[in-house]
Amino acid sequence: MAGPEVQPKAEREGAERGVVPRFDQPEVDAFTRPYWDAAASGQLLLRRCAACARAHHYPREFCPHCWSEDVAWEAASGRATLYTWSVVHRNDLPPFGTRTPYVAAVVDLAEGPRMMTEVVDCAEADLRIGMELEVTFREGGGEERRDGEVAVAVFRPGGGAG
Ligand SMILES: [Zn+2]
Repeated sequence: MAGPEVQPKAEREGAERGVVPRFDQPEVDAFTRPYWDAAASGQLLLRRCAACARAHHYPREFCPHCWSEDVAWEAASGRATLYTWSVVHRNDLPPFGTRTPYVAAVVDLAEGPRMMTEVVDCAEADLRIGMELEVTFREGGGEERRDGEVAVAVFRPGGGAG
């Protein structure tokens, strides 16, 4: 039975605010706050482990390689290469439906971590495995930024010539 208690959180909050629900906005908590604050100013952050020196993404409070908790934030270069991608032609979860087709991608950051993201500003025919990319940020709110909305890291061709 479908009642309010089984509604997805985004849908429930959307209904409360009288707006179309969205599924592209992450939960921001005290731990990930520095990441989203940096994103808002155009900086991609990684977590780097002092015990094994490896970086990881998405941010975790412990190192996924060696389980050390001696992990700190570090500014990423923003450079990456394209590992794989898929052109999405249909997504029923708002607001993705208004963005189709879009390029869902997995990229290898210059610092090592592999990251799920989106490639923008690139024609489908121009996508190549290994192509150089650079980070850019999509504001969550468009022209009318709402409380709690964040800038999401996406990638575009570049990383040298810009
Ligand atoms: Zn480690």
